[in-house]
Amino acid sequence: MRTWVEIDKENLKYNVLKLKEIANNREVLGVVKANAYGLGSVEITKILQEIGVNFFGVANLEEAIELQEAGIKDKILILGASFEDELIEATKRGVHVAISSMGQLQFLVNNKLNPNMHLKFDTGMTRLGFEVDEAKKVIEFCKNNNLNLVGVFSHLSDSDGNTVETKNFTLEQIEKFKKIINSLNLKYIHISNSAGITNFYNDIVGNLVRMGIGMYSFTGNKKHLIKKYFYNKIKTFIY
Ligand SMILES: *Cc1c(COP(=O)(O)O)cnc(C)c1O
Repeated sequence: MRTWVEIDKENLKYNVLKLKEIANNREVLGVVKANAYGLGSVEITKILQEIGVNFFGVANLEEAIELQEAGIKDKILILGASFEDELIEATKRGVHVAISSMGQLQFLVNNKLNPNMHLKFDTGMTRLGFEVDEAKKVIEFCKNNNLNLVGVFSHLSDSDGNTVETKNFTLEQIEKFKKIINSLNLKYIHISNSAGITNFYNDIVGNLVRMGIGMYSFTGNKKHLIKKYFYNKIKTFIY
C-alpha cells in the first residue's frame, strides 16, 4: 500500500500570508528544514517565492547546499549549530549562520571569516546558545572585531503548549529576549515560530518571524487561545 500527501499550493500561500498578517506583516523566514518536514524543501521554497518570501531556514549546511544546487539564490539561514569546516563553507556560499558560542566567534576572527551571522540566545531550555546575561559582552565582541552581525534570535520551544505553565514559560522567554533586543538595531531580530505567532500574537517581538509547521495549518493544540480567530481562517490541505 502506498500513502502520500497532496499539497494545495494556493492553500499553502494563503496560510503563509495569513500568518504573516497575524504577525503584523513582519518579514517571513520560511523554515524548510528536514526536507520541509518531508514535503520537499525545493518545491516548498519555490511556492513560497511566488508570494515574495525570500529568506529560508534550514537545519544544516547540507540542506542549504541542496537549495542552492537547485538554483535557489535567496538568503538562507542555517538554524542549527555549524561545525568549523561548515562555517568556512557557509561563508563561501554566502549562507547565513547561527552562532551560539564564544569559541565559534573566536574561530571566525582567527580565520578572517566574516559570514552573515545571527547570534543565538538561550532564553529557556534550548540547550544551545548564549546566556541572556552575556548579550552585551558578545555583541560588543562582534563590533570590536568588525564581525558581520546581522541578527539575534532565540527559540520558543513550548509555544505550542496549552497549559498555564507553558504559556508563562513562553512569556518569560519573550521577556528575556526583550532585554537583549532593547536598543539593539539589527536587520533580523526573531524569536517567533508558528505557534509563537498564533498563540502569542499580542507578544510578537522583533522584525522577522520563522514559519514551519504552521504553513501546513498545523499550529499546535486545538485548545489554543485564538482557535476561533485562527482556525476559521487557515485552510487545511493535507489529506
Ligand atoms: C524548526 C524551527 C522553526 C519552525 O518551527 P515551527 O514550529 O515548525 O513553526 C523555527 N525556528 C527554529 C530555530 C527551528 O528550529
